Amino acid sequence: MTSTNMPVQAPEIAAPVDDSPVFSCKMCGQCCRGEGGIVVSPKDLLRITSALHLTAEEFAARYGETRGGKLQIRTGDDGFCIFFEQGKGCTVHAAKPDVCRAWPFFRGNIVDADSLDMARDFCPGIDKNCTHAEFASAGRAYLAKHGLLAHNRDEEGRAVILDD
Ligand code: SF4
Ligand code: SF4
Repeated sequence: MTSTNMPVQAPEIAAPVDDSPVFSCKMCGQCCRGEGGIVVSPKDLLRITSALHLTAEEFAARYGETRGGKLQIRTGDDGFCIFFEQGKGCTVHAAKPDVCRAWPFFRGNIVDADSLDMARDFCPGIDKNCTHAEFASAGRAYLAKHGLLAHNRDEEGRAVILDD
């Protein structure tokens, strides 16, 4: 955890709620880089606006953008999420959206072995040796345990919706 008494600060970024048998975050920051995908669901919005002491409108104006009809967090000029700081990691760690909590247990990786193989190349925290079935089983259990499964396609991240 980040502390003012600690001179070296590793990114906290998408560090999960706890670890899983097939995943242990290495805090490299890769998953906070890139355009789009960080959906802020209504539940996420309540949590993050409460933490930042902003109204929903203020949050959307300062940090949000609408993509595909959904509120998402903007990318900064450095190509990382606007809440990511080099050397510090996620500056809204305790209030980050559920999609950030759920990675790498995204729908694509759970339903598609090829997607998982690509995710393994991207994210060093994913076990290199587990089978896709083991990953999928652990992922489903992880999402359920932490209340990260979403169901509303209009407002929540598709990555955390496993309903067919
Ligand atoms: S890419 Fe993987 S290992 Fe790196 S910060 Fe994200 S979840 Fe952790
Ligand atoms: S909200 Fe935090 S964990 Fe999510 S992408 Fe942004 S910096 Fe990364």
